[in-house]
Amino acid sequence: MTIDKNAQLFERARQVIPGGVNSPVRAFNAVGGTPPFIARAQGAYLWDANGKQYVDYIGSWGPMILGHGQADVVQAVQAALLDGFSFGAPTEREVALSEAILRLIPSMEMVRLVSSGTEAGMSAIRLARGYTGRNKLIKFNGCYHGHADALLVKAGSGLATFGASSSAGVPAEVVQDTVVLEYNDIAQLEEAFAKYEGQIACVMMEPIAGNMNFVRATPEFTLRIRQLCDAHGALMIYDEVMTGFRVALGGAQSIYAQQLPGFQPDITVMGKVIGGGMPMAAFGARREIMEKLSPLGPVYQAGTLSGNPIATACGLKTLELISQPGFHERLHAQTGKLMAGIKAEADAAGIPFCVDHQGGLFGFFLLPELPSNYDAVMKSDKPLFNKFFHGMLARGHYFAPALYEAGFVSSAHTDADITSTIEAAREVFKTL
Ligand code: PMP
Repeated sequence: MTIDKNAQLFERARQVIPGGVNSPVRAFNAVGGTPPFIARAQGAYLWDANGKQYVDYIGSWGPMILGHGQADVVQAVQAALLDGFSFGAPTEREVALSEAILRLIPSMEMVRLVSSGTEAGMSAIRLARGYTGRNKLIKFNGCYHGHADALLVKAGSGLATFGASSSAGVPAEVVQDTVVLEYNDIAQLEEAFAKYEGQIACVMMEPIAGNMNFVRATPEFTLRIRQLCDAHGALMIYDEVMTGFRVALGGAQSIYAQQLPGFQPDITVMGKVIGGGMPMAAFGARREIMEKLSPLGPVYQAGTLSGNPIATACGLKTLELISQPGFHERLHAQTGKLMAGIKAEADAAGIPFCVDHQGGLFGFFLLPELPSNYDAVMKSDKPLFNKFFHGMLARGHYFAPALYEAGFVSSAHTDADITSTIEAAREVFKTL
């Protein structure tokens, strides 16, 4: 009998780590079964503890846009390691990375580097509140911005009831200023601005929501948020932790600016790709907003490992490589081939299926048409998704283990990888 090392490791992990994982979705609670323990990765592939190979469509949930172990990135990290792991003092590389980010995202004039998307989102809200002198924060049902207390809020039933905390350990007072609205619902948004006149510090959103699989904000919704923020002196926070440098070199904001000339958010939150797989995130805005941050201004924010020299080396090389002309166009085309191919197989098998993608980010739904908000996403057939997921995993194709998570393609995914995934999908659809 062969020993299942994944199962053995999961058992061992569960003794010492809650649920056996250091971030919940990795535990496969949504889809059931034992998660593979990853031993190593290269290019578009992962290998688990049993030595089984997978085509990786998670890419560490976004950072690995160049695939794993890209040679130039590895070299940059190796060189940086020899200079020292962390100094707790300023370095040239963090200046260079900041300059590189600002060149690519014109809505930002200054940026601060932090170590996780959670930290960046939490700091952006504090900055918006400090800058406006107001407390209320609008977010949208189904968007995820990290696990800061004020953001762990369930949607209430309309505006009459405040959202309750979605996590134990978060006092009601901490979420009393968080208003949760439906994504893409302009009427609700207008109602909220009327109801909380002069109290709203910021509206925070994922421009393309990767935490409800893949749902685009409509241009009309985006424009209305911009107009209402301007009219009421609130700040618009774009959480581009997932979309930044992935859906386009200039992020989702560059795509919306094509449809809404001159469009810019006030504050942008970034993570994932800017660290190339090392712990790195950032938030940035116009100078006058960023100058409210300590040590210049009254809004406190800090971090021992912020701007870490290894992470900045990894991020800088990653940004340099993805800035090559045509990079995102090729990635968009490759992701499109994957989506079109899987959709054609679903159609042939008579399974309701729809897809969307932008750059190296994709979503597919076991639904007849694309959803526009969280409730519509959750109408997907969960048992069917779980069967599809496990069928693909067994055949060596690793998609996100929950129907509300997006998928990721890297520049390392070859035509042969995409074709093999489409062929596997054909087999799996026959079994559904
Ligand atoms: N914002 C978005 C849009 C995200 O997708 C995530 C993580 N998936 C975060 C924020 C939080 O980032 P982190 O996990 O690095 O704290």
